[in-house]
Amino acid sequence: MDEIRIDNLEVYAGHGVFEEENKNGQSFLISAILHTDVRDAGLKDDLTMSTHYGEVSHLIYHYLRENTFKLLEAAAEHVAEEILLSFPLVHALSLEIKKPQAPIGLPFESVSVKIHRGWKKAYLSIGSNMGDKQKYLEEAIDKLGSASKIRKVKVSDFLVTKPYGLVDQDDFLNAAVEIETLYTPMELLHFLQKTELEAGRERKIHWGPRTLDLDILFYENVISDSKELMIPHPDMQNREFVLKPLAELCPYYVHPLLGKSVGQMLNELKTK
Ligand code: AMP
Repeated sequence: MDEIRIDNLEVYAGHGVFEEENKNGQSFLISAILHTDVRDAGLKDDLTMSTHYGEVSHLIYHYLRENTFKLLEAAAEHVAEEILLSFPLVHALSLEIKKPQAPIGLPFESVSVKIHRGWKKAYLSIGSNMGDKQKYLEEAIDKLGSASKIRKVKVSDFLVTKPYGLVDQDDFLNAAVEIETLYTPMELLHFLQKTELEAGRERKIHWGPRTLDLDILFYENVISDSKELMIPHPDMQNREFVLKPLAELCPYYVHPLLGKSVGQMLNELKTK
């Protein structure tokens, strides 16, 4: 991806663990590498198709002047998030904050914290088989759409399916959802669990009826095998109600462990 760079922007501000630092202030040097596609702006010579480094610099300056953090880590985390939320063409960034006058009491050039943050693509499965199923799905999709750390929500058609596992229960309504998110996989899981709870979901019976079920299918090419969070979802390749709507959104997306596309997994399941 192309880059727009800001090197060593100087901001006099009061970040630090010591009260003196908060009161007196000192210089901080901020460098940012913005990952963004500048092809169209370059061909058309048009700034509206790119990200204005001046505006980004002013955002960094004002944010660090108007807020006080103890840690460089916190300052970097918040500034990175502000940039990603304010400049939609910036897909990811590296942000470094240097503190050349940190109170260390030894000779040194500077200390710094550098972080990499960005929008990540994830695919979710969403289902309901209790009450007004369509309403539960629509409300959950609205919640995804209005969360600040989630954008570009795309939804498949809703699909009526027979229950899986415990079969003596009402039909399900299922769909797949594509999102871009600033949440880490675990933060996304917790956001989805909160959304399930808000829909009145109770965890009583495994595979039993539920007002709302939200699962992470893929998160970029991340592989996670902790008990709390398994990505890719371990049973997705065996579930037509997951693969069918997902194939509407990303038929060529390749499962990072099985090496098969979503379309291929769906075809193999149908011919089993
Ligand atoms: P379920 O009853 O299907 O919603 O399962 C929920 C449990 O599965 C929770 O305890 C989660 O921590 C765990 N889990 C593991 N991997 C995932 C995943 N990819 N998406 C959602 N929940 C997961």
